[in-house]
Amino acid sequence: MKTKKIIQDFTKEELEKQITPNFRVKQIYHWIYHKYATSFDEMKNLPQKLRESLANQYTLTPLKQLMVQNSKDGSRKYLYELHDGHTVEAVLLLMKNKTYHEDGSLKHQERYTVCISSQVGCKVGCAFCLTAKSGFMRNLTAGEIVEQVRMIKKDNNIDANRRVNLVYMGMGEPLDNLEEVVKSVKIFSDLEGMAIATHRQTISTSGLSTKIEKLGKMELGINLAISLHAVDDALRATLMPINKAYNIASIIDAVKNFPVNDRKRVMFEYLVIKDVNDDISAAKKLLSLLDGIKAKVNLIYFNPYGGTKFERPTKEDMNKFQDFLTKRGLHCTIRESKGLDISAACGQLREQALEKEV
Ligand code: SAH
Ligand code: SF4
Repeated sequence: MKTKKIIQDFTKEELEKQITPNFRVKQIYHWIYHKYATSFDEMKNLPQKLRESLANQYTLTPLKQLMVQNSKDGSRKYLYELHDGHTVEAVLLLMKNKTYHEDGSLKHQERYTVCISSQVGCKVGCAFCLTAKSGFMRNLTAGEIVEQVRMIKKDNNIDANRRVNLVYMGMGEPLDNLEEVVKSVKIFSDLEGMAIATHRQTISTSGLSTKIEKLGKMELGINLAISLHAVDDALRATLMPINKAYNIASIIDAVKNFPVNDRKRVMFEYLVIKDVNDDISAAKKLLSLLDGIKAKVNLIYFNPYGGTKFERPTKEDMNKFQDFLTKRGLHCTIRESKGLDISAACGQLREQALEKEV
């Protein structure tokens, strides 16, 4: 049997080449991304014949929800199964709760960020990362990336017009799957679709310098985050083997060429591991490394899991590290451990599910 195409894999322009008359594509887009339709049969303003022909050619449901874990802070972590049985994770992060004025009227809606996966597994093989442990399986298609957000919005009754931010910080290295990731960015930002502006989307990378340059040249208006984690090449190479191919200097050069929105900064993620990279001398080096770059630093507590030799840093060391940088004018935040009680670092839910299988 011929496998059906995933309709979310296609941009509106691509669908217009496949479906006639053209104006139907806008309607279909509306059903998919505004009404979160799960079958073509629901698309009542399309002629029955078209609905049938679409159902014969395309699928609308490339992912199956296998598990969901709720965190006390309102975040939710999802495990999805792909058509070939592989699994990936995505997380809904509740950044701010709904607030009300004294008279009971609404002051602020909730703020959401969705963390999405771009690959099944990852080739980069970082020593501290659970996703790396089970190796690399395959790239996700644009539609499989897009569908994570659509399913999360549907499951949480998040209205199509509500703003959400996206971070490509789930499983996988997005720049190792550049083509499909860029396509997903475009599908997300389509005004007839989810209309998630590119400045609300952040791609996080372990530092594939040549791909950072390539992404920059596309001028998408997307935000960049670099998983730096160490300030000298020898240590970085032990934590992140990719550093042997793309060293710190090459990453800094690529970042300097990256087009950054006037009101934005490039985020440098620094995973703090006890007694490995939590010393103030590292903070000093970081400061000089980022000199002249519109940067902000996000410190992340290492999140331990069974079998790892690394440990979570102390709160005191974390605060000292942050103070050192902020006192010298570098924007530095400590990542709130959203959903820590549901094993926040991506890869951890999938690992639990795999362990249960054996
Ligand atoms: N591959 C890309 C995108 C995935 S982001 C990248 O590495 O940037 C995954 C993020 O989770 C990275 O910033 C990574 O450093 C972080 N991470 C991985 N393992 C972690 C752990 N055990 N605790 C906390 N953060 C972790
Ligand atoms: Fe891959 Fe990122 Fe994990 Fe490194 S941290 S193995 S690049 S997902």
